[in-house]
Amino acid sequence: MRSHWLRAKAGESMADIETDVLIIGTGPAGGSMAALLSSYGVENMVVNRYRWLANTPRAHITNQRTMEVLRDLGHDVEAEAYLHATPNTLMGNNVFCTSLAGEELGRLPTWGTAPHSAAEHALSSPTHMNDLPQTFMEPLLYKTACSRGTQGRMSTEYVSHEQDAEGVTTTCLDRLTGKEFTIRSKYLIGADGGNSKVAEHAGLDFEGQMGVAGSINLLFKADLSKYVAHRPSVLYWVLQPGSNVGGIGMGVVRMIRPWHEWLAIWGYDINEPAPEVTEDFAKETIRNLVGDQELEIDVTSVSTWTVNNMYAKSLANGRVFCAGDAIHRHPPSNGLGSNTSIQDAFNLAWKIAMVLKEQAGEGLLASYQAERAPIAKQIVTRANQSIDEFGPIFGALGLLDSIDPVTMQANMDARIDNTEDAEKQRQAIAEAIAFKKYEFDAHGVEMNQRYVSDAVMGDGTGAPEFEKDAELHCQQTSFPGARVPHVWLYDMAGNKTSTLDLCGQGRFTILTGIGGDGWEEAAATIGEELGIEIAVHKIGPRQHWQDFSGDWMRAREIRDGGCLLVRPDQHVAWRSQAAVSDATEQLRKVTRAILAL
Ligand SMILES: Cc1cc2nc3c(=O)[nH]c(=O)nc-3n(C[C@H](O)[C@H](O)[C@H](O)COP(=O)(O)OP(=O)(O)OC[C@H]3O[C@@H](n4cnc5c(N)ncnc54)[C@H](O)[C@@H]3O)c2cc1C
Repeated sequence: MRSHWLRAKAGESMADIETDVLIIGTGPAGGSMAALLSSYGVENMVVNRYRWLANTPRAHITNQRTMEVLRDLGHDVEAEAYLHATPNTLMGNNVFCTSLAGEELGRLPTWGTAPHSAAEHALSSPTHMNDLPQTFMEPLLYKTACSRGTQGRMSTEYVSHEQDAEGVTTTCLDRLTGKEFTIRSKYLIGADGGNSKVAEHAGLDFEGQMGVAGSINLLFKADLSKYVAHRPSVLYWVLQPGSNVGGIGMGVVRMIRPWHEWLAIWGYDINEPAPEVTEDFAKETIRNLVGDQELEIDVTSVSTWTVNNMYAKSLANGRVFCAGDAIHRHPPSNGLGSNTSIQDAFNLAWKIAMVLKEQAGEGLLASYQAERAPIAKQIVTRANQSIDEFGPIFGALGLLDSIDPVTMQANMDARIDNTEDAEKQRQAIAEAIAFKKYEFDAHGVEMNQRYVSDAVMGDGTGAPEFEKDAELHCQQTSFPGARVPHVWLYDMAGNKTSTLDLCGQGRFTILTGIGGDGWEEAAATIGEELGIEIAVHKIGPRQHWQDFSGDWMRAREIRDGGCLLVRPDQHVAWRSQAAVSDATEQLRKVTRAILAL
């Protein structure tokens, strides 16, 4: 980055600051974008209008795919996330109750903790799901970014931008001096959250509705160990008929730090203005949800927010790209917010890096839209559907038949009777609670993202059908567009590595086996021709990485001498079922097409 007067002297751009990529926002989307770009050696600047990173815990469920992104940033980054996170073992009992001290109505093992689900999680990824509040995730991403070269600028507010054929000129407000200044960049990334000004100014096309329900967040400290430690969980759902206006009275007590820091979430009528939340109201609501009127509480913050149901149909306009909540705005259900934001960045960062390094044509950037717009739609739809899927629980408890609290309570109590009807009700409650796995254990939603775009090339085979429910179960495949399957490989020194660890880190990778020498030669030739790094790993007996268990042989869906070409974001770009006589020619054709050269 060079100063204004130096450039003016050289007759260059008259913007106050120049950088290659300007990122607006230091949330999960912006922080990860900056960290990835710096890791790939791309000059970038990230700005945030506030002087702080996340000051409330907000997003917390951190899924395996996101942990794979952090692992790709470095094992130290991954390790630090685990250090601060509540481990998976304490996440699993999604409890439905009348209050924490009151009656438990049912529970659901969640987030990969039930035995079958735990096995599927262990088989799918080298990483573990965990609970990492945004107050820990943001500093980790920001620190990683800045320590690798990102220019971080706080108290700096995005105001507007203008783009031309060569770049984008963005006007920002320095909130410390009150003065506006300009930043010239080749690309602008709007990672400025659910009220994105960048998306608005870029004219992105949206579908859906903002503000479909109102929520109140009450952050508090209180020792709740005696109510929860025997059934550790992230979420406790409290149903108190009649305790809010005409409503079912469902509130959530969310663990922030076990078991003394919490967030209580309560609703408000979206047709009314957001309420003024007093400390007395906060304490009363919390004590009711906990079911302990004597509870010592330290209310640390209160805020209101709205449930949104909106996604962008266009994610970019020219040199301006948006990521994160800027393009998908939805409730916290399924814990997809921060996860999807970080995964957006993982998709886009390597493409921008390769275009800036002139290793790819600008056409590569169009694949961001093709690949991530369907994900934005999918997760917004899923998160909102998950809210609706509480309906059967309310229905089974008899809470939808009346708005009279006494009748509602009687309907709920009817389940303890020794009658045919009560037995049916008990079954219905159990089934409705179990069905919530589509929100709290939707491993497939988190892991099965398959891309279809010009940055993926088919191999003439059809996409494999999902053998089980695609929302619930991760199904690994090497079909082009899917994330490369994870299995463990071993070396002779006793070390193990995930197949994912062999890929990523900003470069293309070829995974092959015995008989794949042609691919090795092809990678060297094409890598040199295009000025890109194509790492090659031959997996098999007496190779560096060995498949002692045969897991790779079963997972890879190609023959020993075949090849998987894996993109920097660990998605399979292309595959060849077997060794071919013209490997260099084939790889040249495919790589040039994928990189839009
Ligand atoms: C109150 C609340 C509670 C939530 N709870 C959960 C939850 O429990 N689970 C979950 O998964 N998700 C939750 N979310 C959603 C989750 O926090 C988001 O999905 C996630 O933060 C999105 O990341 P992002 O980087 O896209 O946007 P954000 O995290 O919103 O970050 C936006 C960034 O842009 C900056 N910015 C905005 N405008 C400007 C501007 N004009 N100039 C400069 N900087 C700007 C902001 O300061 C911030 O740094 C919650 C959100 C809110 C608001």
